[in-house]
Amino acid sequence: MEVTSATPVTARVPAKVNLELRIGPLEDDGYHSLSTVFHAVDLVDHVTVRPADKWSVTTTGMGAGTVPDDETNLALRAAQFIARRVGTDEALAVEVAKNIPVAGGMAGGSADAAAALVAVDALWETGFSPLELQDMAAELGSDVPFALEGGTAIGSGRGEHLVPVLSRGSFEWVFALHHEGLSTPAVYAECDRLRGTDPVPEPEPNAALMAALRAGDVDALAGNLHNDLQDAACSLMPRLTDTMNLGLNNGALGAIVSGSGPTVAFLCADHNAALDLMVGLTASTICDEVVTATGPVHGAHVVHDVRPR
Ligand code: ATP
Repeated sequence: MEVTSATPVTARVPAKVNLELRIGPLEDDGYHSLSTVFHAVDLVDHVTVRPADKWSVTTTGMGAGTVPDDETNLALRAAQFIARRVGTDEALAVEVAKNIPVAGGMAGGSADAAAALVAVDALWETGFSPLELQDMAAELGSDVPFALEGGTAIGSGRGEHLVPVLSRGSFEWVFALHHEGLSTPAVYAECDRLRGTDPVPEPEPNAALMAALRAGDVDALAGNLHNDLQDAACSLMPRLTDTMNLGLNNGALGAIVSGSGPTVAFLCADHNAALDLMVGLTASTICDEVVTATGPVHGAHVVHDVRPR
């Protein structure tokens, strides 16, 4: 495929919170099967790609100092991956502008990979179909397909098999961020340790959660938030329990550790309740930063207006 040089392209991509995360037994290959409900929120990163003499990646924004600037950067990896599929020798400069917390359990790295795929696809007008892009996303990592898709979706396998969920209305969230990250493998290992030898059932989505989303019932949704990794994340970082309790005592309808943590997500009745909670959490200094966000939103897409949120 011959590629055409062009002006830079920027893609915007949302963070995810898992409304439900059920972890199956540890399998022989060292991984766990899971059943999850992903929900995309408008806490976003931007990835810009532009033609360059050699490959590079730079990161700005929150947590940028901890993001690698070599081939292990997931945005650069995705851009080089699609370049190989295109079969071009051309190089790109990849710029990542971060708002999604790094190692925060909101799949920021996977989001950047999805944004890079979309941006390079648009820059070079590759003509790949949505299905081909989804397949590439799945090869890049199990959270990448959802970052491409957005909305609200059930994820199975390792999270890469997606089925959209019927969901009414939108939901208001507050996220309590901690600058100290939690390693996803360490949280899974702690989950296995806490479970010990107890038998673990095959994970399945909860019908009550699906009904709450279908009805747009925020109270029922709050009552059905569930994360099998929550105890493990709180065991490794006990202040997460205090953060959740503080939010629940300050008007949150529900609280959940996002993915493998340490971000804590609070579901609120409406936008004003979210603003009140943000003020309360910020004043408490129990966490390092507090942001509000709304979901569900679309997955990775090209934008012309690159202002955050
Ligand atoms: P998940 O919820 O998928 O487990 P996470 O949100 O906890 O992920 P990420 O922000 O995706 O964590 O980062 C995980 C690791 O990946 C970090 O240690 C980070 O250094 C590395 N990484 C590589 N590329 C990126 C990127 N573009 N953005 C953020 N982190 C990246």
